[in-house]
Amino acid sequence: MATESTTITGTGVVAGIAYAPAIWVHARPSLPEPGATVAEEARDAEYERFTVAADTVAERLAARADTVEGAAAEVLKVTAGMVNDRGWRKAVRKNVNDGHPADYATVAATQKFVDMFEAAGGLMAERTTDLRDIRDRVIAELRGEEEPGLPSITSERVLLADDLSPADTATLNPELVVALVTELGGPTSHTAIIARQLNVPCIVAAGPPINEIPAGEPVLVDGASGTITLDADEETARAEVASSRERAAIVAQWRGPAQTKDGHRIQLLANVADGQAARLAADTQAEGIGLYRTEMSFLSASQEPTVEEQAAVYRKVFDAFPDSKVVIRTLDAGSDKPIAYATLQHEENPALGVRGLRIAWGNDGIMVRQLDAIALAAEGRGDDAPTWVMAPMVAREREAKWFAELCRERGLTPGAMIEVPAAAIMADRIMPHLDFVSIGTNDLTQYTMAADRLSPSLAYLTDPWQPAVLRLVKETCRVGELTQTPVGVCGEAAADPKLACVLAGLGVTSLSAASTAVAGVGAQLADLDLAQCQEVAEAVLNASGATAARQIAAEMILG
Ligand code: PEP
Ligand code: MG
Repeated sequence: MATESTTITGTGVVAGIAYAPAIWVHARPSLPEPGATVAEEARDAEYERFTVAADTVAERLAARADTVEGAAAEVLKVTAGMVNDRGWRKAVRKNVNDGHPADYATVAATQKFVDMFEAAGGLMAERTTDLRDIRDRVIAELRGEEEPGLPSITSERVLLADDLSPADTATLNPELVVALVTELGGPTSHTAIIARQLNVPCIVAAGPPINEIPAGEPVLVDGASGTITLDADEETARAEVASSRERAAIVAQWRGPAQTKDGHRIQLLANVADGQAARLAADTQAEGIGLYRTEMSFLSASQEPTVEEQAAVYRKVFDAFPDSKVVIRTLDAGSDKPIAYATLQHEENPALGVRGLRIAWGNDGIMVRQLDAIALAAEGRGDDAPTWVMAPMVAREREAKWFAELCRERGLTPGAMIEVPAAAIMADRIMPHLDFVSIGTNDLTQYTMAADRLSPSLAYLTDPWQPAVLRLVKETCRVGELTQTPVGVCGEAAADPKLACVLAGLGVTSLSAASTAVAGVGAQLADLDLAQCQEVAEAVLNASGATAARQIAAEMILG
């Protein structure tokens, strides 16, 4: 008889299935309470004690960085650098001078920086795990306690943690740690970055329920769906792991450029947020960048960076792909990505508010300066490295026309995101002004289904398999074919291998997704002829809903 199982859902960041007993990272040290005071004459010695402990921690991290490669080494070096940060050490010094013991002085100084990072939000907020990590290491060192972090692991385990520190993740052995699950974190946290590099199935932001999982309990982790299943049937779980490994082996062998079984080319590109992500993408089979979300680079900026400052940021992404296409998107500030210098405050409905291209409508300075910066950064890129520029949230023909003119005046190739239903419906009017379009299925789904993409309770609606969304994709592709305009997809839909086949069947010419998803999509496309993709697409368009559409595709596409 099948036993009932419990499922916890988080954000899957690396696909793959694993089944093994759970293990937790070493506990963090208890934090000191305020109150104790150090006599004035002992304060210099107390700060010296801190300096010795911090230097030891920094040296240990730097030494560990020398034993690993790539992003792992970079992460360890950055963490060691944070221990040496002068601002942080100065804050500790001040607290010790005020009479606090070294351990509490460290806690208070770190908290000051954590508060600052959290207030900045976005990517900065995800770095607070790194700050707390160095705090805990220094406190353990001050007390002569064991360094917090990874336990020693001798057989396959699923590693659980509130949030893994970069130093923990950088040294773990992917042969023994078969999956990572964290309560906190985000898709761009260090846990996610390292898990991608090691190709270990990984789920972040699984929430407090994972604290109930005792060490030693077998858990089934599915990094694609973001689910952790307790009490899974062992035989079924092991079969799922075996078939996932078989598929992973096929995917690992896959080499681009992508095409269907009968040779129909689909360009596979990567979505990135900064230079580091672009460099990681350059190590995959991605043929270029299909979406560079420029706003992600400025989430913590309080003032608009100058044209030169912006160009320096963009250059880091261009430099990762010196001989390939890069599609750069102008600021999509607003809604869930507020930027201090570009976002209107206190909108009632920010997702329906002044976001994307709308921030520059009627006040084009911010757009003009960004396009100047893009043109400056792209100087010297040859014909084999085209720079395409697209605007987010285009809804009307006149917006497309205006944006295209600004781009062409600067020698840039203009395009638009198709992510507002109006743009898909008016594609025949919008597309003639542009050289390409890219469908943002995340927002296109949100706006088509009138369902907030951030709401977990509306996840059944914000599903890109919704036939209503796919019909808008089809209409966009029809106009694309008629006007000979390339139509890409750069929303999360492009990361789902089966949905990618449907999109190819609908007439999409390029797909852009997280770089880790590229090989999986390429391998799946290689299994099907274009005519099969078209057949599945036709069937899915006529499905009654997203679940039915998925089921139809699963039955028609094996693998
Ligand atoms: C989209 O909406 O699908 C998209 C790619 O843009 P973002 O997720 O940044 O809104
Ligand atoms: Mg969008």
